[in-house]
This record gives sequence, structure tokens and C-alpha cells, in this order.
Amino acid sequence: MQIIPPKSGTSFQLKKEQVLKVTDIEGSQVSDILFFNNSDVKEKLSSGKTMDYEESILLTKGNYLYSNRSNKMVKIIEDTNGRNDFLLAPCDVKTFKHFYNMDGHHPSCFENLYTHLDKFGINKDEIPTAFNIFMNVQFNEKGKISVMPPTSKAGDYICFKAEMDLIVGITACSAKDSNGGSFKPIGYEIL
Ligand SMILES: [Zn+2]
Repeated sequence: MQIIPPKSGTSFQLKKEQVLKVTDIEGSQVSDILFFNNSDVKEKLSSGKTMDYEESILLTKGNYLYSNRSNKMVKIIEDTNGRNDFLLAPCDVKTFKHFYNMDGHHPSCFENLYTHLDKFGINKDEIPTAFNIFMNVQFNEKGKISVMPPTSKAGDYICFKAEMDLIVGITACSAKDSNGGSFKPIGYEIL
């Protein structure tokens, strides 16, 4: 298993039919993940298209994640925790100012995604809403949302099967409230 240290990220290619397994090693840790078409990075993960086709805002085992061009990018074939978020964009420096009143630099999913995706020709303005693995966003009937600690336990994992050749960006999230108050690593492996 490859380890993404706390508050960091990485990127790599994933071939069609390969399976990416992402593991919450210690429990209660969110991982933001993005997919781009390896042969044309203007095709990328779309939360809106996914929720439209899958007719749900909660995506888990059996669901596909779609691109902005309405193509299937991955299928979720395992999900031992079962709670993920696809509503919220990656945390960034201004997020930390807004919610935590923090000034100056702080590691963020946004920065960890675009810096690692730069080598594939993907810049910061091309980062869409990420699929937030293990993120526990709750909402009431009026649409009010709240970010709760993840329900994932140590060893929980999710598996994505690639439906096309992909570039993957992935993080161990840097936002304290999203991760139950502490920052932990994320594991991944290509099966
Ligand atoms: Zn984050």
C-alpha cells in the first residue's frame, strides 16, 4: 500500500479496468479524489452529471462517477464505510480563513491537488468539485448542511474500477472539522 502522509496529496495514472483501492488507515480521515481523462484532461469528474445520472446525492457501491461530457469515469465496486460527499469543493486557503479564521499558508486539498496535477498539464482553474471519500456531510429537509466527523473506522476502504484511462489526483484532507479534529494518512493501491 502507498501512503499519502497527513495534509498532503499525490497524482498518478490509472488504466481502464484497473481498480484503485483507497483505505482510511487510522479511521475518520477524508480523502478528496479527482479523475481526468488521460487522453484529454478537459474531460473531468462532474458532481452535477453524476448526481443527475445516478439520481442521488449519496454515492456508494454500485454507483458510477461521470465526467462533464456525460461519460462513465469509474464505478464504485466496494465501499465498506458507505458515506461519501460530492457536494463540497476542495478545502483551500480562503476556506481556512472563513471557517477557522486562520491567516497565512495552510496545506489544503486544493493546493495538494493542483500542485500534483500540474505535471499532467492540469492547472488550478481546472480543478472541479472533488469526490470526498469518507466525508460525512449531513443535510436537513431545508437543505441546511453540516460537516460531521467521518463514520469510517480504521481499515475501511473504497474501490473504484476505471471505465477509461485516467489521471487521478488524491489527498489526505487538511480541514480539521472534516476529519474529526485530527490529521491522518490515507492509503491507496492499484489492484
Ligand atoms: Zn480538504
